[in-house]
Amino acid sequence: MEKLRREIAKHDELYYQKSLPVISDQQYDFLMKELKGLESAFPALVTPDSPTQKVGGKPGQGFAPFRHPVPMLSLDNTYSEDDLREFDARVRKTLRRETVDYVVELKIDGLAIALHYRGGVLERGVTRGDGEVGDDVTANLKTIRSLPLKLKGRAPARLELRGEAYFSRKVFRELNAAREAEGLPGFANARNLASGTLKMLDPAEVARRPLSVFLYNLGGARPNPWKSQGEFLRALDGLGVPHDRHFRACRGVEEVIRFCKSFEERREGLDWEIDGMVVKVDSFEDQAVLGATSKSPRWAIAYKFKAGQAETTLLDIEASVGRTGVLTPVAKLEPVKLGGTVISNASLYNADQVQALDARVGDRVLVEKGGEVIPKVVAVLKEKRVGDPRPWRFPEKCPVCGGKVEREEGMAAHRCANPYCPAQVAGRLEHFSARDAMDIEGLGPALIEQLLKAGLVKGPAGLYGLKAADLAALEHMGEKSADNLVKALQASKGRGLGRLVFALGIPQVGERAAESLARAFGSLDALAAAGEAELLKVPDFGPVAAASVLDFFGRAESRVLVADLKKAGLNMKLLEEESASSLELEGRTFVFTGELSGLTREEAEALVRKKGGKATGSVSAKTSYVVAGGAPGSKLEKARKLGVAVLDEKAFLKLVG
Ligand code: NAD
Repeated sequence: MEKLRREIAKHDELYYQKSLPVISDQQYDFLMKELKGLESAFPALVTPDSPTQKVGGKPGQGFAPFRHPVPMLSLDNTYSEDDLREFDARVRKTLRRETVDYVVELKIDGLAIALHYRGGVLERGVTRGDGEVGDDVTANLKTIRSLPLKLKGRAPARLELRGEAYFSRKVFRELNAAREAEGLPGFANARNLASGTLKMLDPAEVARRPLSVFLYNLGGARPNPWKSQGEFLRALDGLGVPHDRHFRACRGVEEVIRFCKSFEERREGLDWEIDGMVVKVDSFEDQAVLGATSKSPRWAIAYKFKAGQAETTLLDIEASVGRTGVLTPVAKLEPVKLGGTVISNASLYNADQVQALDARVGDRVLVEKGGEVIPKVVAVLKEKRVGDPRPWRFPEKCPVCGGKVEREEGMAAHRCANPYCPAQVAGRLEHFSARDAMDIEGLGPALIEQLLKAGLVKGPAGLYGLKAADLAALEHMGEKSADNLVKALQASKGRGLGRLVFALGIPQVGERAAESLARAFGSLDALAAAGEAELLKVPDFGPVAAASVLDFFGRAESRVLVADLKKAGLNMKLLEEESASSLELEGRTFVFTGELSGLTREEAEALVRKKGGKATGSVSAKTSYVVAGGAPGSKLEKARKLGVAVLDEKAFLKLVG
């Protein structure tokens, strides 16, 4: 038991203080389960400081401590359906009831926060800390745009809302792309990044990393107008409080289990990461009867999703070269089956991660397919290490062009110094044609490699000179695909200015920044001619990004590129649909079914697009909302089956403002 406690304490320190865990959450939970099992067999040996008895984490340094009026607890968790049934049996026994009403919510994988409102105005925002005392991070939380500084409607005079600060997948991807552009190593994990970000001492730095929040728990209210969790959640819209809408009221544990399981597949389609579901007894009165242990409430339990994991051998660590020359360590694995696919590569993110894991060639490792597309190495099974393999070091020469690898003073990333390195050129072309950029269908990495090898293109502008006949002669191409690619290239000429600016791959300029620049300057010429003062006026644009834009357009090769793209006939001006100022539906997809009464389907779809959302024709697990008008079709049924949120016309109009 002591050994387990020591081991768990070590991982707590790495996870909560350093935000750099070296084992997976599932492995951690199994250590905890083992300890709990021993403690229940030998209750006399339970110590008050055992990790099973207290909330993990500590208040940080540099912030004012804040004592929570009601402790912020953790959650008991399980990975098994049977444990959910046992939990339900315990609840029913205490409440002496046949069936219990629950509310089931998504378990958002971020950092717990509490917001204190007085008279509807945000007074203070704090982290969980050790559950008793947290950090006052009000200034940092105030940088979160969706977090209401003033509540709408009639809020209780004193109100404490609890929830989670997190990074959307999209923002996380953008932050990592910007890091790469800046020559910094990528972040390994969105939760750890959220935790690290909220603990930064400079709110201006926090503001550069757009966090989001979801609120889901009532910390306390005076007076308290709500009688149940469901009632409370339904009131949040009226208060203007962001919350996740996928929660559901379930009667009895079997319904709970079905709903929990339905999200195991749907989670991938969400724009934020979840690590499971949270099951809560609905009635506040019942919750009070059930009470809590020193660590977690007895009226709730987390059902965690098993991350698809597999054990395999690390055959090699290679450095792959990105479009800005940054080298990223990639694990070459003995092929192993995971989640229906065979994995032979996994990400190791950066040198710090390789070092923290102490991954060495020949080690047995665990790979996991979390919410992300690329599997990652989450743990090294050191107990299975044979002999004493050498620690891994970054290569001194670029593995692609043989050029010098540099590590700038103070920079964590290693990069290849040769701008003509074929890997960098290929990377730039891939970025240019990617879906978020110029969206050139059919132009993927394999074809780009062929084009470069055949000497048909040297950079993005060259793509527009490609002839169907040249393309048809390439391997696996044929006339039809060649024609299609020429058409796709033609279509890409009309893309918006924001996409074009993003596609140029200016360091520090991610998708959002590119859109802001496009809106602020209206044309590529105006942007290229902009001075520092003008750039600094662009919303959310700091001096580092401004300097990078100036540097980019100051280079002769960039000016040639812009002139060539113009000659090729690409749109260089802001399109009408880009000028819409608010993009609050970004990342959400809508499907319409049935007839709307106040507006046509086309008008409704245009509204969605104007706000940055997407309107598509068919319902899938990735659909955010199905809007059902009069006499809806089978899409409504499908939405219900998949658990997709359904809106009527009124709710839809409210959502789009
Ligand atoms: P937890 O994260 O498993 O669950 C409690 C938290 O869930 C709450 O504090 C809250 O922030 C969050 N939450 C998200 N959505 C919620 C919702 N709808 N309703 C209520 N709460 C919601 O527990 P914890 O105590 O914060 O952390 C322990 C967990 O952290 C472990 O189970 C493990 O997964 C992970 N951990 C991992 C390591 C490691 O080394 N890998 C080390 C320590 C902890």
